[in-house]
Amino acid sequence: MPQQVKERRAAAARPQDQEETAEGRAMFDDAQMRLHTAAEVIDLEPWLESVLAAMQMEFITDFPVRMDNGGIQIFRGYRVHHNGARGPFKGGIRYHPSVSIWEVRALAMLMTWKCAIIDVPYAGAKGGVVCDPSRLSARELEGITRRFTTELTPVFGPNTDILAPDMGTGPREMAWIADTYSMHQGVTTLSCVTGKYPELGGSLGRKEATGRGITIITDAALTERGEHISKSSLVVQGFGNVGQNVAATASHMGAKILAVSDVTGGVYNENGLDVEHLLKHMESGKMVADYREGQSLGNDEILLLPCDVLVPAALENQITEKNAGQVQARMIVEGANGPLTAEADIILQQRGIRVVPDILANAGGVLVSYFEWVQDISQLFWTLDQVNDTLDKKMRLSYEMVSQAARDYGVDMRTAALAVGVGKNADALRIRGIYP
Ligand code: NAD
Repeated sequence: MPQQVKERRAAAARPQDQEETAEGRAMFDDAQMRLHTAAEVIDLEPWLESVLAAMQMEFITDFPVRMDNGGIQIFRGYRVHHNGARGPFKGGIRYHPSVSIWEVRALAMLMTWKCAIIDVPYAGAKGGVVCDPSRLSARELEGITRRFTTELTPVFGPNTDILAPDMGTGPREMAWIADTYSMHQGVTTLSCVTGKYPELGGSLGRKEATGRGITIITDAALTERGEHISKSSLVVQGFGNVGQNVAATASHMGAKILAVSDVTGGVYNENGLDVEHLLKHMESGKMVADYREGQSLGNDEILLLPCDVLVPAALENQITEKNAGQVQARMIVEGANGPLTAEADIILQQRGIRVVPDILANAGGVLVSYFEWVQDISQLFWTLDQVNDTLDKKMRLSYEMVSQAARDYGVDMRTAALAVGVGKNADALRIRGIYP
């Protein structure tokens, strides 16, 4: 077989994806396991479980982009629609070398449950392009984004599937997508994406929404125990968008922020950190380890500090079977996606430490994305107070619903959240019936 043909066959089969696919496959298996657990809890009819286990639509494209060196490179992009029972599809677009069809399927399914838990009338979707944005110029990224948008045009739009930022993408990419889509339609259609700049139909409060939502959920969880956030102490791991906004909003509500950390290390003050001062320090481009108004701590130590609430808001798999037994927090509110392993979950449950799951706790960003879409469609923009008040009400209602489900089914909050998400989609499917 000629070498070129061998190379083309290899490229089409994407053998270079094998390793990352193993991780994506594990995510997919995990998502399917979670669906099955929730189905058992709510005693779901088998036909509904099999419909909800399937992906409604999968779109794969290999598309060419002209690179800065004058050559042409082929990129692979995905978009998956999980199940459209409750409304139009919605989900992020990820640019990362490890993007695979398995990962995209798993994330689309989780998005379906998340939207239902926070009572947003969307169905879960996810997409991505296999690429490393850190190795691409802005012009190359624009080329990828505009060509991918063009390829995607048959399967997305403001009434069918609304795109959003995810790992490796942000408001800049959303602006390119909105512009490309609008050029094709001949009319400016900003509602085809969320997470845009406020100057281009973005919502006030979107950037802060995930962190603010986590603080609201923390307050709701403490209130349920007869406690108050103004009398509580928090430790926050990860001091990026999410962690900074958790610290800012929680300290605004009177909480004592005992410690925070970023990739460079942590800082601790038993009397509470001056969060405003620390945020100014970060704004000047410095890192947490450079902050001198407290005691330096390592990233491992910060997770084990005694406190009322620990918010892991950095990476996945931070609390594992190795350190779960030493955690001294009374409650964990998951800011990041998947910061606890399944083994850690069991240990913490046995130790009576309440865990509020990511799928509920960090849903504030998706919620304000929905508000952005509503504002774009109605062409009537909300004040920051309107956004924050509505976020507050809807997050608290979602917390109460999940907490009630945990009591009703006698399960932990993670299982309860999934049971709510799966149950609402099953209800919609049962009422709609199977077409034709
Ligand atoms: P970010 O990149 O802005 O911040 C990540 C932070 O984690 C940085 O401060 C980084 O220094 C720190 N970090 C990295 N490795 C660390 C380590 N080993 N120990 C301690 N800190 C470490 O990201 P973000 O937007 O704040 O997202 C954080 C997490 O929240 C991710 O899991 C993300 O998927 C999840 N999330 C984010 C949003 C959102 O709207 N931004 C929404 C839902 C979920």
